[in-house]
Amino acid sequence: MSTHIDDDLEDFRHEVRDWLTRSVPPEPLPPWTEREGFDLHREWERVLFEGGYAAIDWPAEYGGQDASLRRSIVFGEEYYRAGAPERINMGGLYLLGPVLMQHGTPEQCARWIPDILSCETIWCQGFSEPESGSDLASLRTRAERDGDEFVVNGQKIWTSMGGFADWIFALVRTDPVAGGKRKHDGITFLCIDLRSPGVEVRPLTMVDGTRGFAEIFFTDVRVPVDNVVGEIGGGWAVAMSTLGFERGAVFGDHAKFSKDVANLARLVEARGLGDDTAALDELGRVLVETEVYRANVHRLAGLAEQGVDLTATASINKVYWTQMQFDIFDTGLRLLGADGAVVGDPDALPGADERTRRAWADWHHRYWYARAAMIFGGTNEIQRNIISERVIGLPMEPRR
Ligand SMILES: Cc1cc2nc3c(=O)[nH]c(=O)nc-3n(C[C@H](O)[C@H](O)[C@H](O)COP(=O)(O)OP(=O)(O)OC[C@H]3O[C@@H](n4cnc5c(N)ncnc54)[C@H](O)[C@@H]3O)c2cc1C
Repeated sequence: MSTHIDDDLEDFRHEVRDWLTRSVPPEPLPPWTEREGFDLHREWERVLFEGGYAAIDWPAEYGGQDASLRRSIVFGEEYYRAGAPERINMGGLYLLGPVLMQHGTPEQCARWIPDILSCETIWCQGFSEPESGSDLASLRTRAERDGDEFVVNGQKIWTSMGGFADWIFALVRTDPVAGGKRKHDGITFLCIDLRSPGVEVRPLTMVDGTRGFAEIFFTDVRVPVDNVVGEIGGGWAVAMSTLGFERGAVFGDHAKFSKDVANLARLVEARGLGDDTAALDELGRVLVETEVYRANVHRLAGLAEQGVDLTATASINKVYWTQMQFDIFDTGLRLLGADGAVVGDPDALPGADERTRRAWADWHHRYWYARAAMIFGGTNEIQRNIISERVIGLPMEPRR
């Protein structure tokens, strides 16, 4: 992401606002967690691409706009303000694309990046396994070399969008842990076409009935050696870059949390609590939290423009925004009662206007997601370990 100082932000804001006003679908899309909704979200990603807005922070040579951090923030603010659909191309745009630019060969960039940008190929992330989440380096999916190919056997789990994606970037073990080697060695970052023989994708149904996750099984799947990103056996460094992008990829998302609070205010009003001072106190508190976060995001962008390295702030940011988000929805649960948690029945708000009914449906989806955000991309406990060791300099946690 470019960090040069940007003087034309207000012009850019108006340009984006105009474009979004013309382009955002008038009706909300069905959830992407089912095939029909997923395909419609994919079409929307293509509209963004054709408009030149798929990845404005990417370098121009890869089809981005070389946008400054502030410009990306403005884009995010306008995006959520316009009520535009949720993005589904994150695996490619926020994770694999930047990873390829950093670790990939020119051939790999030429082969995969254009289709990421245009959403022709949807990528998912295959890191977690049933026994390997926080302790990622203990992963057991094996890839054994056979000539110019690897033969992959094993299982991934909690793969977001795994049921709909075309390709997966996965961590596999190419060298057993032996002879005093660290378990972080011998892991390789491998791109696998999910249509390959031997791949089985089993969707997982979540507590709210959605099917946005999958387990993916590999049985003797043959993958060209050319699909390795980085060094064979050196995938840990590539994985750490990926997680860095994942934890840092939230600039501009503060607008999403402000929208959650605005939705909550609307729902509190619809519930007849608009004059309840205790409810208003609670609303005020979460509003202040989101404003503090917004101010901090703008402050960090300013620091980035001055060349300050923000790597260490990714973990701090993730702990802050996920706890803030949790607090917004917990507050909502207290104010709205049990209806604040269960899957929304629009008729629970008799007489509500269309915007309020939409806010209600959106609320329930986001309620469940707020819980998950404290887990994905490395749990908050793991982030606290990182902060204590790498930011504060406390002793390292004992490693097995
Ligand atoms: C919404 C969502 C989307 C996800 N998407 C993907 C995806 O697309 N691809 C993918 O690969 N994975 C994905 N995941 C999986 C996610 O990365 C893992 O769930 C996460 O890393 C935690 O691993 P685990 O579930 O195995 O929990 P565990 O690692 O078993 O942890 C259990 C508990 O123990 C705590 N704990 C573990 N180790 C420590 C320690 N050293 N110190 C302190 N506490 C510790 C954890 O914080 C947690 O509370 C997703 C998860 C969610 C919720």
